[in-house]
Amino acid sequence: MEIPFLKTPVEFLKGVGPQRADLLRKELGIFVYYDLLSHYPFRYIDRTKFYKINEIVDNLSLIQIIVRLKSVEVIGEKSAKRLVAQANDDTGNIELVWFQSIKWIEKNLQPNSLYVIFGKVSFFNGKKQITHPELELYQSTNPNYGNLTLQPVYSSTEKLKIFGLDSKGIQKIIATLLQQSLPHINNVLPQYITDKYHLYHSVDALKNIHFPINSQTLKFATNTLKFEELFFIQLKLLRTKLLRTQKFKGNVFTKVGDKFTYFFHNLLPFTLTDAQKRVIKEIRLDTQKGIQMNRLVQGDVGSGKTVVALMVMLLAIDNGYQTCLMAPTEILATQHYHSLKALLKNDFVNIALLTGSTKTKERRILHQQLLSGQLNILIGTHALIEDPVVFKNLGLAVIDEQHRFGVEQRAKLWRKNIIPPHILVMTATPIPRTLAMTLYGDLDVSVIDELPAGRKPIETLHLYENQRLRKFGLMQQEIAKGRQVYVVYPLIKESATLDLKNLLEGCEVIATEFPLPQYKISIVHGQMKAKDKEFEMQRFVKGETQIMVATTVIEVGVNVPNATVMVIENAERFGLSQLHQLRGRVGRGADYSFCILMSSQKLTKDGRTRLQTMVQTQDGFKISEIDLQLRGPGNIEGKEQSGVLDLKIADLALDQQILMEARNTVIQLFEEDPDLKNPKNELIKNYFIQTKTGITLDKIS
Ligand code: ADP
Ligand code: MG
Repeated sequence: MEIPFLKTPVEFLKGVGPQRADLLRKELGIFVYYDLLSHYPFRYIDRTKFYKINEIVDNLSLIQIIVRLKSVEVIGEKSAKRLVAQANDDTGNIELVWFQSIKWIEKNLQPNSLYVIFGKVSFFNGKKQITHPELELYQSTNPNYGNLTLQPVYSSTEKLKIFGLDSKGIQKIIATLLQQSLPHINNVLPQYITDKYHLYHSVDALKNIHFPINSQTLKFATNTLKFEELFFIQLKLLRTKLLRTQKFKGNVFTKVGDKFTYFFHNLLPFTLTDAQKRVIKEIRLDTQKGIQMNRLVQGDVGSGKTVVALMVMLLAIDNGYQTCLMAPTEILATQHYHSLKALLKNDFVNIALLTGSTKTKERRILHQQLLSGQLNILIGTHALIEDPVVFKNLGLAVIDEQHRFGVEQRAKLWRKNIIPPHILVMTATPIPRTLAMTLYGDLDVSVIDELPAGRKPIETLHLYENQRLRKFGLMQQEIAKGRQVYVVYPLIKESATLDLKNLLEGCEVIATEFPLPQYKISIVHGQMKAKDKEFEMQRFVKGETQIMVATTVIEVGVNVPNATVMVIENAERFGLSQLHQLRGRVGRGADYSFCILMSSQKLTKDGRTRLQTMVQTQDGFKISEIDLQLRGPGNIEGKEQSGVLDLKIADLALDQQILMEARNTVIQLFEEDPDLKNPKNELIKNYFIQTKTGITLDKIS
C-alpha cells in the first residue's frame, strides 16, 4: 500500500469536491481515499438475472428486464411535468417515468431500440411502472452490459442522497477512485502467506469486493480482505504482548509460603476441582518467569473463580507483595470483601475495602496502611485506580468481571508500581473464543472448564403470564423447605420511575401470595442509596428474608447457596449473557434449583430463541456463542472501550476459521522473526509501520 496516496482527502477526488467531501466526513466518517476504498458494499444485486414483464408480481421489487421502447412523451404542467415512455417485451407492457432531467433524458432516448432496464417496479392504476429506472442500450455483442453481474449496494444517508451520493452515486466515485488507485496499491501480505491461504493480491481483492466479476471472485475477495483485517489486528495485539514481555520485568513469586499452605490445609472448605488446580498451576508458572503476567481466566458462572483468585493472592502475599481485587460495582466489591473475609476466617491476612462510599477518615487510614505495607489485600471498585492509592509494593492485581474494564484501565493499574503488577482478569461469563482472541488477544488465557462436583442441574422453565400460579406454587414449595428465592425485574433504561413502579407492584403481589408474617421480603433497586442496598442484601444473605426482589443489580456475583429459585420477570427483555448470569445465582448449594423465565405471550424471534436457548442448555460457552450470533459483536458489552471491534469486513460470529488462521500465522511469524527483519516479511513490516497499527515500534529498526 502506498499510504501517502491513500491518505489524500476525498475532496480531491474527481466528482467529489468540498461540499460532498464535507458530507462524506460527517455522514459516513469517510475522510481520505483509504476510507472510501474500504467503504465496502453491504450487499450485491444479481444483475445476471432478467425477468419477463409478466413475471413481475411483487410491488416494489428490484428487477431487470429487456424492453423495446415504443413511445416517449412529456406530459403535465409545471411541478407535475414528467417524461413518460411506453415499453414492452413479448409478454406485456411497462411504463417508465422521469420527473427530473426530463429534457436531457428525452434527447437521449431512442424509440424502437432495445434497452436493458433496471429499477423498482410499482403498480399504478393497474399498470406496471418504474420511476427513474437505470437504463442502457442493449447490445447483443456485450452480454455483460458494462460488466455488471453483481452490482454493489452501498450504505448511504438521506443527506448524501440529496447531493447525489446514493448507492449508485457512491458506486461512481468509488469506480473513479479504484481506477486511480490501482498503481498505488501494493500487496500487504507476502506471497508465502497469500499462497498458503489462497488469498488474492490486495488489488484484486479491492477490485472484486466493489465490482465482482462473479460470485466466486467475490468470495475470494471477501476472504482476502477479512484475513488482512484480522491479521493486522492480531499482529498488533501479539506485538503488544511480545514487547511487554521483552520490556517489562515481572515480580517473581519464588516460594509457596505459610499463608498459602495454611489456607490450603486448614481453611479451604472443599477440594479444588482439577480445573481450578490446573489454572492455579498455570498462574504459578507464569509468576516464576520474571515476566509480567497478563492472564485471562475464563470460567462459567459458579465455576469457582473467586477461590482461585484468593489462592493466587496468598501466593503473592507469601512472597512479600500486596494485592488488590477490583470489581465493577460496589455491591460486588462488598460481596467479595465479605466472602474473602469468611474464607480467610481469622486475621492472618489484612484485608480492606475501598469504594466510592468509603469515608475520608477511613480512606486516610487505608492509605497509610497501604503505604506501610501493613495491608495485604485491598478490594474495591474503580475507586481503586482513580483514587490516589499508593501501594508499598503491589505485586498482583485481580480484575473480576473484566468485560467492563478496558485496556486503558488495565494500563493504569500497571502504573501503580515500578515493576508492573501481575494482572489476572476474570470474566463474569464465558465469552466466545473469537471475541476473546480479539478483545483480549494480548492476554494468555486459562479456562476453568469444570464445575465443582455435586452441583445439581438447574431446571429452567419458560412460563407465560397466565401460568403465574405455577410460579407461585414453586416459590411456596421451596420457601416451605427453608430455601430462598430471587425475583428479578429488568431495568428499563428509558424510565427509571417505570422500573420502580413495576418492581413495587410486583412486591405487592408477592406480599399477598405470601401473607404470613414469617415471610419477609428484601427489596433492592437502582434508586436506593448504596448503604441501604447493602443492608437489604445482607438481610437476605443472612437468611433473615426469604425473598429478594431486585432489579438487575444482583446480576453479578452475589453468592447465597441457600437460594434455590430464580424468577426472572419479563425475561424476554434480558440479553442471553445476563440471563445466564442471573441463573447462575442459584444452584450454588447442593439442592435442586429452579430458574423460571416469565414472559409475555408476544415474543420476537430473537426473544424466543434466547428463552429456548436458556431452557435447553446450561453451558455458558454454548450460550455465549449463540449470543454472539444473535447480537453481533458490536452489541457485546464492554466493546466500547475497545477499538478492535470496529471491524470493516470481518464478522467475529461467522469468521472463526479465518480468525484462527490469521492468528496462527502471526504467532508463527513472531516465533520465526519477532522483529520483522527477514526480507520476506518486508511487506508486512512496511504496512504495519505506515499505518501505525501497532504501538511504539522502537524494536523494529
Ligand atoms: P464464579 O466463578 O461464578 O465467580 P464463585 O467463585 O463465586 O464462582 O464460586 C461459586 C460457589 O462455589 C461459591 O460458593 C464457592 O465457595 C463454591 N466453590 C468454589 N470452588 C468449589 C469447589 N472446588 N468445590 C465446591 N464448591 C466450590
Ligand atoms: Mg465471581
